[in-house]
This record gives sequence, C-alpha cells and structure tokens, in this order.
Amino acid sequence: LIINFNINLRKRIEMLIFVLNAGSSSLKYQLIDIKSKELKASGLVERIGIDGILKHEIGENKKLTFELPIPTHKEAIELVLRILTNNETKVINSIDEIKAIGHRVVHGGEYFKGSAIVDDEVIRKIEELIPLAPLHNPANILGVKICKDLMPKVPNVVTFDTAFHQTMPMENFLYAVPYADYTEHHLRKYGFHGTSHYYVSQEAIKLLNKKDSKVIVCHLGNGSSVCAVKDGKSISTSMGLTPLEGLVMGTRSGDIDAGVIPYLMEKKGLNHIQILDYLNKKSGILGVSGVSSDLREVIKAANDGDKRSKIAITMLCDRIKKYLCSYAGLMHGVDAICFTAGIGENSDLIREKVCEGLEFMGIEIDKDKNSKREKGNREINTKNSKTKIFVIPTNEELVIATDTYNLLKK
Ligand code: AMP
Repeated sequence: LIINFNINLRKRIEMLIFVLNAGSSSLKYQLIDIKSKELKASGLVERIGIDGILKHEIGENKKLTFELPIPTHKEAIELVLRILTNNETKVINSIDEIKAIGHRVVHGGEYFKGSAIVDDEVIRKIEELIPLAPLHNPANILGVKICKDLMPKVPNVVTFDTAFHQTMPMENFLYAVPYADYTEHHLRKYGFHGTSHYYVSQEAIKLLNKKDSKVIVCHLGNGSSVCAVKDGKSISTSMGLTPLEGLVMGTRSGDIDAGVIPYLMEKKGLNHIQILDYLNKKSGILGVSGVSSDLREVIKAANDGDKRSKIAITMLCDRIKKYLCSYAGLMHGVDAICFTAGIGENSDLIREKVCEGLEFMGIEIDKDKNSKREKGNREINTKNSKTKIFVIPTNEELVIATDTYNLLKK
C-alpha cells in the first residue's frame, strides 16, 4: 500500500513551464509539464491592439476560439492566465502552479551562446541588440517584463533563435566586406531558427546513432532556412544578419544581388524602409506567383496550369537544392537530410522536387514512403540511399521548456 501511494504521489508531481513567444501584435504560448513532456494547453493570440482573437487548445484535442478586444500585450497575457485557471477551461488551479517561464527571443547577438536566466543585465543586453532585430526584440522584451510584473515570484529564462549558430566558424559568418564593420558595427551572419535546427538535428543524430555526424536541416515554413550541422554543431546557415538572406520564402526574396537595392530605389523612388518592405513582404513566392504566400494555394494554382506558380515552386526547390549541395560540399559529405516546419513536414511535392536529381550524391527518396501522411519522426529514403532522408516535426517550445528547467535546476 505504501509503495502504491508513493508511485501515485510521484505521478502527480508536475513541473509546469509556461513558454511564451511574444511578437509585435501576436503571442504564442504553451503550458508544458516538463517531467512528463505533456502539453497541457497551447494557443495563439492575434491582432493585439487591432481587435483581438485568441485560439486556445486544451491538450491536443479541445479547441476554443475567443473574439474580444485585446488592446495590449499585458491584457493578452492576463487573459491567457485567466483561461488557464478559469472554471470551464482550467488546466491548473492557480497560476502559482507555474514554476518558470521560458521566452523565445529572436536576437541574442554574440552575447548569448545559449539560454539565460533573466536578470537586469540580460534585459539590458537584449535591449542593446534592438538595432539588429527592430521588429522582434522589443516585443520579446515586453513579454518578459509583463510576466515579471504579473508573476513576480516566478523565474524567467530566455532562449535565442541565434544562439545555436554561435558555433559557426568565422569564415562562414563573416561577409566579405571591410573587417572593421564586423568589429565596429557587429556586421556578420547570425542565422535564425536556431532552436528548431538544434532540436531537429539532435533527433536526427539519435536516429543515425553515429558519433561523427553530418546533418543538413531544412526548416521550411513561412520563413525558411537551411543549416549544416557537423557533430551536433551549426557550422553554416542560410539566414544572415537578418532573416532576409537565403532561401526563397513566403514573402521574402532570400539571396539577391545587393546591386538590386540601389537600382530599384532609384527606378521606383523607394526609401530604405520601403525597399526593405518590398524585399521582406512583397517578394518570394508571393511576389513571383502573384497568387499567395501560402504554398498550398500556389501548388493548387500550379496544378490548374498557372505558369508563374510553377516557376515560383521550381525557384523555391532549386534554391534549397543549391544550399543542400553546397553544405554537403562544406562538410565533405552528408549522413542525413531533415525536413521540418509547415512545408517540410507536410509537402511531399516539395521534398520530392528538392531531392530529385541528387542520386549522384547518394540521396534517393522513396516516393511511396514520402507520400504517406504519418505523425512523428520518419525515414523516407530508399533502402539503397547512402544518405538518410528524415521528416522530423520541429518542437521549439519543448527546447525552450527544457532549457528553462535545466538552467533553473542548476
Ligand atoms: P510554418 O511557418 O512552419 O507554420 O509554415 C507555414 C507554411 O507551411 C505555409 O506557407 C503553408 O503554406 C505551408 N504548408 C502547410 N501545409 C502544407 C502542405 N500540405 N503543402 C504545402 N505547404 C504547406
């Protein structure tokens, strides 16, 4: 009886971590029990300061939508905490059950090579980095400050999108411009999606069961990037000083001749803010196809015969292929290619087109395995393929929650 009682008691001990990703007008959150890895609740608040919509999920099944005015981020977080503890929707009795909060922060510059427990100095450094991420870091800091205000006894941890790429060697992060602009103005490649690249490459290394590993991760979503991971460390990645460099994305051009910028500014009479808006919000798949930034709609249009949509899809896949081949060259080979995020996890068409013609490098996709819709990590290469091809659903929130727990445990 005593043994049974102890087992039951242990089962009920939870360690709840609240994971928060605060954007300029949105807020994503998850409540995770780090002991069991159970997702208690998750959601997304959108259109903060405009009108307000909250999509909340309890566990992985029960979905609720609330439409109500949400004027500020503070009110958004207060609302989420009320829903987590409210009678009908509650998953916890009180916010005191939340033991720590993990925040996603976009830019950690060269200061942060891993996650950090929040103190005044950490906040000061994130603020200092605002010029490198003017759209993201201010909202991220706001999320931290509101949580400190609303839950003063709960510790906060920050996890950075850039941190995983801090292992890149200098030759891979410098731009070939005068060196003084690196030392004086911090001009260099930082890379983003680091939490996702870290999670997916770790999963791949476990699947490979190999000590020395060469893995390429393709994080393909609305924003996309590729990362070369050698022995678990990022050695090169496609995004740069900002998330504009690299692949063709939903609305971002990716790699482009820098000469395009003054040329277009003059031709179209654009200032520097307008040209950035053009390259960040009007380009990529949307710009080329003229249909949408949502790849599902562009694929549908291509199937209906739309020429520009077909070209946009080919440009997207060819750019990924270019990075795959160059990173395989950089690492002197590749053991595994991983596909993740919205497009990488869901589009068999894109995975097939990316791998098409790469048999000469030992990359052979199995079309049947590729077209099956299954949950979880899976292998989609042929038996003879020298390189493994994996589909690995990313889980950035779990990395943030785990880092938060591990740092505070110390
Ligand atoms: P994410 O930013 O990771 O949420 O990914 C969003 C992107 O995934 C959107 O551009 C969607 O068009 C794309 N996506 C989701 N499902 C599919 C699918 N079945 N086929 C193609 N693209 C998809």
